[in-house]
Amino acid sequence: MHKGLHKVLEIRHLAKSTFSIRIERNDLKFIAGQCVNIGLPNTGVNREYSSYSGENEADLRFLIREVEDGQVSPKLKTLKPGDFVEVDGSYGLFTLVSPHDLTRNYVFIATGTGIAPFHCFVKSYPKIKYKIIHGTARVEEGYDKNDYVSGSYVQCVSQEKGVNGEFSGRVTSYLQQNPQSKDSIYYLCGNRNMINDVYDILREQDVSGSNIITEVFF
Ligand SMILES: Cc1cc2nc3c(=O)[nH]c(=O)nc-3n(C[C@H](O)[C@H](O)[C@H](O)COP(=O)(O)OP(=O)(O)OC[C@H]3O[C@@H](n4cnc5c(N)ncnc54)[C@H](O)[C@@H]3O)c2cc1C
Repeated sequence: MHKGLHKVLEIRHLAKSTFSIRIERNDLKFIAGQCVNIGLPNTGVNREYSSYSGENEADLRFLIREVEDGQVSPKLKTLKPGDFVEVDGSYGLFTLVSPHDLTRNYVFIATGTGIAPFHCFVKSYPKIKYKIIHGTARVEEGYDKNDYVSGSYVQCVSQEKGVNGEFSGRVTSYLQQNPQSKDSIYYLCGNRNMINDVYDILREQDVSGSNIITEVFF
């Protein structure tokens, strides 16, 4: 298992509490959808973060929400290029079932930074057929939405009015108003309540439980 210090190359502030961090890869290997542990050097404290960058990118990127009073995420937000973070990994089974079978339709459903593994899927396997349904509180949280194939990204904004045709409301309302195909494969990532609610809605829409794959961030 890889463990080592990685130099910070860039921090992008994408929304009030969300930033993206780019660090040197140092030969770390991972499968799209997996996460690593990241912490400040010599603190003995780390947290899991899913790769935001694709399997074949030169550097590693992560999409991180700063949790108020959190132990790790606020410290990561203050990093500057040239600083170091401790990384170990990679871990996890939240990977695509058959990324090279282009007949499959994937539906990726996320809240907040739960979109990170989906960005990684799309960057790693640009030919897959997918739709992303992304729940955010605010419009500004449609992180890097131009990275997705036109028409494949739906943003559901719950705490303000949309400005560019975003769906007004939560992902659960979107799914109730737009029933989904039982033949797609569903990946759900984000907070536990959303995942439980979306799971129930998809099951009511005749999606088999074996076609729903989940990753709980918190
Ligand atoms: C497999 C896995 C992958 C993950 N990948 C990512 C990722 O790519 N990006 C990312 O931002 N986070 C990700 N997380 C969450 C991350 O590991 C931390 O839990 C988060 O950064 C908070 O750590 P902290 O030390 O700042 O807060 P802590 O001191 O651990 O405080 C934790 C508190 O914050 C809450 N919390 C945790 N995450 C959030 C959140 N996003 N929004 C609101 N409250 C939250 C917890 O419920 C808890 O109450 C992932 C978690 C798992 C299990």
